[in-house]
Amino acid sequence: MNISPLSIYQAKKRISQHITRTPLVRAHELSDLCEAEIRCKLEIMQPTGAFKLRGATNAILQLNEEQRKRGVVAVSTGNHGRGVAYAAREQSIHAVICLSGLVPENKVEAIKSLGADVRIIGNSQDEAEIEANRLTEEEGLIQISPFDHPDVISGQGTIGLELLEDFPEVNCVVVPLSGGGLIGGIALALKAASPKIHVVGVTMEKGPAMILSLKAGKPVEVNEEDSLADSLGGGIGLQNQYTLKLVQELVDETLLVSEDEIGRAIRYVLQTQRMILEGGAAVGIAALLAKKLDVRGKNVALIYSGNNIAEKKLKNVLDYL
Ligand SMILES: *Cc1c(COP(=O)(O)O)cnc(C)c1O
Repeated sequence: MNISPLSIYQAKKRISQHITRTPLVRAHELSDLCEAEIRCKLEIMQPTGAFKLRGATNAILQLNEEQRKRGVVAVSTGNHGRGVAYAAREQSIHAVICLSGLVPENKVEAIKSLGADVRIIGNSQDEAEIEANRLTEEEGLIQISPFDHPDVISGQGTIGLELLEDFPEVNCVVVPLSGGGLIGGIALALKAASPKIHVVGVTMEKGPAMILSLKAGKPVEVNEEDSLADSLGGGIGLQNQYTLKLVQELVDETLLVSEDEIGRAIRYVLQTQRMILEGGAAVGIAALLAKKLDVRGKNVALIYSGNNIAEKKLKNVLDYL
């Protein structure tokens, strides 16, 4: 497998001029509430509003001349597509982004405005993937998976290296979990530094593909429904090659949170830190507020993975204030 601590260091060097070295900030109220030292990695400050720019950039910078001419295609719940579109534009590479009808309008518009060719197909990632596979087979585009791709996983893993630089005392990391590229890369970087660092993955109750796949011991299909955590939707791919194995080997604990818990977490972060998170990024906070995770006395890093929440969803969440 060409994913290793070394490939993550190489990714860090490769992408450093193209992404934001994001800050890590202390969550004061939450630290008090949980009797822990809790710090937040602000991936919301990436130019695309989400960490997925790291993996997309690492993959695109490694294309050869012939591949660059053919162009790239990606299936996405929004943030990966935006990362691919951004990195492709920077390199003057043609990008086609295949989205399902569940992707919020704000994400669709952001991808279009980066100059990518957007295709909206069906109502699930699986349906969007059929079109992406067709473009790969018939038109020769290079497909960049949102999570199950060594260069993408290594790119996301650079977050783990930055955490070690900024917070070497970290002994627990809480990561939003969907396809597992984010947690797989981070866990690989952190466990190489210290196998004792506790790695927790949190996802939503609606269609938790990775958790069901862990239970089954193989990739399983899930129904996709609309959720506050729309960026965590979709399956892990029935042909999953990398992330299921990484999660099986490196993730210590997985948790589920409900829509209400996610909404409450978004409000809490707004109230206590004056930051806006999208639902997919708020699941770690949701787990802590719901007392599903005991971190007393620990040095905890939370990944604020994105802030591209649709205004309508944000308004609904804030109506409870
Ligand atoms: C994609 C995404 C995740 C989950 O990442 P995976 O690599 O699919 O597990 C979490 N948060 C946000 C904001 C995302 O866009």
